Amino acid sequence: MFLHGTSQINAAGHLEIGGCDVTELKAKYGTPLYIVDEELVRQRCREYVSAFRASGLKFQVAYASKAFCVMAMCRIADQEGMSLDVVSEGELYTALQAGFPAERIHFHGNNKTLDEIEMAIDAKIGCFVVDNLIELQLLGSVAAEKNVRVQILLRVTPGVEAHTHEYISTGQIDSKFGFDIGNGSAFEAVQLAMEQSHLELLGVHSHIGSQIFEVDGFELAVQKVADFARRIDQELGFQFKVVNLGGGFGIRYVEGDTPLEVAQYVKAITDAVKTHFSGWSSETPEIWVEPGRSIVGDAGTTLYTVGTSKDIPGVRKYVAVDGGMTDNPRPALYESKYEAMLANRANEPVEETVSIAGKCCESGDMLIWDLELPKVERGDLLAVSCTGAYNYSMASNYNRIRRPAVVFAHQGNSDLVVRRETLQDIIGNDMIPERISKEPVLK
Ligand SMILES: *Cc1c(COP(=O)(O)O)cnc(C)c1O
Repeated sequence: MFLHGTSQINAAGHLEIGGCDVTELKAKYGTPLYIVDEELVRQRCREYVSAFRASGLKFQVAYASKAFCVMAMCRIADQEGMSLDVVSEGELYTALQAGFPAERIHFHGNNKTLDEIEMAIDAKIGCFVVDNLIELQLLGSVAAEKNVRVQILLRVTPGVEAHTHEYISTGQIDSKFGFDIGNGSAFEAVQLAMEQSHLELLGVHSHIGSQIFEVDGFELAVQKVADFARRIDQELGFQFKVVNLGGGFGIRYVEGDTPLEVAQYVKAITDAVKTHFSGWSSETPEIWVEPGRSIVGDAGTTLYTVGTSKDIPGVRKYVAVDGGMTDNPRPALYESKYEAMLANRANEPVEETVSIAGKCCESGDMLIWDLELPKVERGDLLAVSCTGAYNYSMASNYNRIRRPAVVFAHQGNSDLVVRRETLQDIIGNDMIPERISKEPVLK
């Protein structure tokens, strides 16, 4: 397993994250356990901010909180000078309760409810990213009712297909998100937004996909958005103040993944902006980006305890851990690949190839196929790396499995940021109606 951030193997041959020996974390918090390398999260935030500073452009870096949205993470994003994307009342509530400044919160989503719109307006968030005409009308009328002026971006699909897994592409025309530039609906949306006196159109937003390893998709998106901006300027006399280029910056999950440095993505984007907005635009717009995965992905590690195994001679050996698709649904959803190590015997040589199964009643509940490890024993600790993004946030209670705890590890200290669910939490929302609460029907 590749060691990210502060992760290292200590003298005892144990994996250590943020100066904390994972065998001690297991003793203290149990498994499965999400461990976040706080220093690495902060470093990633700083890489974005400093790369943008170096560009000389005005900017906002909004952490896409859906990747991992808990109050402690919102605090870190705030401390590091980030803005924050939310896509639901739950994420918005989390951010507000964590004291995240409302004016730096951006609200996304293709089907915001009336309740969500009202909650976000009342909280005075910075910006709505409007996805469709129904939302544009709804937002305009709620803002009018409340007699406020709401800042918006329009989400556009520039018709760029990033090189990525099909399920996570959003920039092409056949997408549930946004107004298409190519077929004229984005142009029409700009006209309609400009007519709405309670909406202040700041500009446009485009997000071309996720886990992107090249810059050409971003450069092409900048070009298409700039061409669109120029047309709006020429035909409607309106200049965008803000251009949001979304997230999707790739990270290294496994050997063979070849992401660029954060600074390289940012430089490609800011250079393309300078090129395509120069010569006609009186002022270069403020550039926003929205990294999610690349802020938290490689800072997360999931620690499991090995339980049973099943050796099928000549076929494969399954090794089961005490979590699975409930804490990491990505392999089952997208065939995502992960690396792992035996965290309590990290220096021992490879002896066998095993496949790591979860404990759910589902054959598809496999975390890793064909992983090389030392001889695995019941009670060993398996650490799966790069689980910081879209793991806790996508976790479920399937099979009524309790969601794990999350700890931040930092300079030898560990702090719980989410406690492990209890069995009481599992039944906490259940109710038994009176009429079925008494005697059995069959006597
Ligand atoms: C998911 C999403 C992001 C973040 O994507 P990452 O791949 O996690 O960087 C940013 N913007 C929008 C609109 C998204 O839907």
